[in-house]
Amino acid sequence: MPAVPSDVPVAIRTRGLTVAYRKEPVLQAVDLDLPAGALVGLVGPNGAGKSTLLKALLGLVAPYAGWVSILGRGGAAARRLVGYVPQRESVDWDFPVDVLDVVLMGRYGRIGLFRRPSRQDRERAWEALEQVGMAAFARRQISQLSGGQQQRVFLARALAQDAEVYLMDEPLAGVDAATEAAVLTLLQRLRASGKTVLVVHHDLHAVQAFFDWLVLLNRRVVASGPTAQVFTPDNLQAAYGGRLAVLPAPSEAGAPVAPGCQGVMT
Ligand code: ADP
Ligand code: MG
Repeated sequence: MPAVPSDVPVAIRTRGLTVAYRKEPVLQAVDLDLPAGALVGLVGPNGAGKSTLLKALLGLVAPYAGWVSILGRGGAAARRLVGYVPQRESVDWDFPVDVLDVVLMGRYGRIGLFRRPSRQDRERAWEALEQVGMAAFARRQISQLSGGQQQRVFLARALAQDAEVYLMDEPLAGVDAATEAAVLTLLQRLRASGKTVLVVHHDLHAVQAFFDWLVLLNRRVVASGPTAQVFTPDNLQAAYGGRLAVLPAPSEAGAPVAPGCQGVMT
């Protein structure tokens, strides 16, 4: 598998990472090195363990075996470097809290549980809301937002954390065109400022346009490397098996896959 170039720091490293829910292994011996400063796509079929991998990187699920490091650090020091955007379905949107409070929660790692948010915390929260185009909704209850707006609030919360590494679970799933554009702009901006962003992506459409580096996961790492090297029919077949009805055709130009061709999952 292609390695991270020696002059690029490794942002996310796992070795032998194995996670099981009630003795059923979900991730098996995952060894990954992901480059700093890249937009990394994490792709694989439903149930492949994508969300579980993010949770293991965050320390939200304990591994059965193996370890994780973020920019060379482990444990709590690693988690302080990470901002997380959970999968939208996993959040209780009826929780009675307004948009600004949700974004301020992103500052809690810095605020400490018993300290009130400082003026700087509030300013950073407002700035993050502006970055995702949601400042006008700051005092709205989160239950009263559309799906796309909710997604943007969670992006703002992650931004307010001022993390080095961002883990985003399907930020583009089921969002409207305006939110999709806002998310893509944000991803580019994070990369331009040297951040590392690992994005779980739900389909194969435009994978080549979005991501510098691609991880194909199906309980194990099927492939990990620069997108052009990883996004090949053989690798996709290995990751999706029979569930991939249409494989991208090889291009005539010699690139592994023709732009615009999409895999269609059944
Ligand atoms: P993905 O995000 O790729 O769709 P997940 O990481 O959510 O996959 O899930 C991987 C597997 O682990 C699935 O079979 C799922 O049913 C199972 N799983 C996920 N979370 C739990 C949990 N909290 N308890 C038991 N099984 C779980
Ligand atoms: Mg998932």
